Amino acid sequence: MKLISTRDSQAVDALEAIICGIAKSGGLFVPTSFPELTKEEIEFCGKASYSEAAALVLSKYIDELSLEELNEITKRAYGGFDTEAIAPNVKLDENEYILELWHGRTLAFKDMALSVLPLLLVKSKEKKGLKEKTLVLVATSGDTGKAALDGFANVEGIDVCVFYPSDGVSQLQKLQMITQEGENTHVFAVKGNFDDAQTGVKNIFAHKEFVEFLRSKGYELSSANSINFGRLAPQIAYYVCSYARLLKEGEVKEGEKVNFVVPTGNFGNILAAYYAMKMGIPVNKLICASNKNNVLTDFFRKGKYTANREFFKTISPSMDILVSSNLERLLFELCGRKGEKVADWMKQLKEQGSYDISAEEMDLSDFYADWADEEETKQTIKKIYDKHGYLLDTHTAVAVNVYDKYLAETGDKTKTVIASTANPYKFVYDVLENFEKELPEEVFDAVDMLNKVTGEPIPQNIKALKGKEIRHKGIAEKTQMEDAILGFIK
Ligand SMILES: *Cc1c(COP(=O)(O)O)cnc(C)c1O
Repeated sequence: MKLISTRDSQAVDALEAIICGIAKSGGLFVPTSFPELTKEEIEFCGKASYSEAAALVLSKYIDELSLEELNEITKRAYGGFDTEAIAPNVKLDENEYILELWHGRTLAFKDMALSVLPLLLVKSKEKKGLKEKTLVLVATSGDTGKAALDGFANVEGIDVCVFYPSDGVSQLQKLQMITQEGENTHVFAVKGNFDDAQTGVKNIFAHKEFVEFLRSKGYELSSANSINFGRLAPQIAYYVCSYARLLKEGEVKEGEKVNFVVPTGNFGNILAAYYAMKMGIPVNKLICASNKNNVLTDFFRKGKYTANREFFKTISPSMDILVSSNLERLLFELCGRKGEKVADWMKQLKEQGSYDISAEEMDLSDFYADWADEEETKQTIKKIYDKHGYLLDTHTAVAVNVYDKYLAETGDKTKTVIASTANPYKFVYDVLENFEKELPEEVFDAVDMLNKVTGEPIPQNIKALKGKEIRHKGIAEKTQMEDAILGFIK
């Protein structure tokens, strides 16, 4: 289907959007309209395998590929997951379900999309007859980087280059990235925080001479960040599938609304829930949960987006973000799809670090937003484990805590699905701390201890990291990320 830019009138088809990642104006590609799912299609998603359901949802947006081609892609993509349900709904309590999105190879929800994107990109290039190499640039707060490296490793015709904030990721997240195999993978620590890395990558895309130079070397740039529509589309599928399965299992009745609670950073995951709602999944509230970097809470409550504020390093590092890129796609919908308006707000954000929509008549009522501080996050991990024997990671704990606040405020009885975005072992120290006072120095000892104390099984892909060769030692100043790229482009 045709996609349009959020800032101007550039229109491309879905394959082109996947290939280039971002619009020329810096805008993001969004569908020209939201395809509706029929009652039968939702029922199908409840009964079918996850990969079949995902292919159906993808086919609504990427109709340039046949359903058969999409089925091949999703079947391969989800083949490496460690549970057949791929994204199971786990009932935690009356009315409360955890949607586990971390059963992929890198143990975070990014695998749900990044195991699909490389296959979509290769297919898109093939259909368009493109022979150039693709250089995929990624800024990561920890989880996207590894999932992209894993997804793109050894994929023909593609190089992938990841920039992560040097002190902004967990020890195991870092180990996962710097031990990555594959001659086409490149990893650099950026001296700065995630926003510096993300801004650096955006600036490279916007630097015409550099892009031209890469072209002269046979490379086209693309992005694996959630600004790429090929990331967003597979994420919509798990919200559709979660609802369809609840329906099939009789947990909700036909047409019954649910809430989705999403621990949010770059606004990609929760935006996919919004898209699922636009496609016809009955939603009461989309609950946007933030950590101490609560820029989105302020936005939804006051209508002002202010990135000019102190940046906090938290125990939920994948949400340590002050510039939530995908919010642009929501703004575009809420303001009545006025590209000039969006372009103007984004200009203000870039130049002044803030923008204000409070005077606009925008309806934000589909959303509820709140945040959890560090102490609340930790207490939630302990509380849920004591009550249910269920071990949350630090990001999902933010979501559960915000849901508790929502319940206290509203008393809402609507069935609620909480997106669980990472396996607790990825953030082993901050999880273990809630159960043990003396923490071992060696990270794999901490892993063993968490296993002993909670009985939570250690994922194979954590065990496999032990003793693995460190392959990536590069460091980049935040102003010199282009030089890092020049180092491996021959
Ligand atoms: C990326 C990530 C998030 C935030 O998701 P967004 O799409 O950026 O809002 C939350 N939790 C974990 C574990 C993540 O990796």
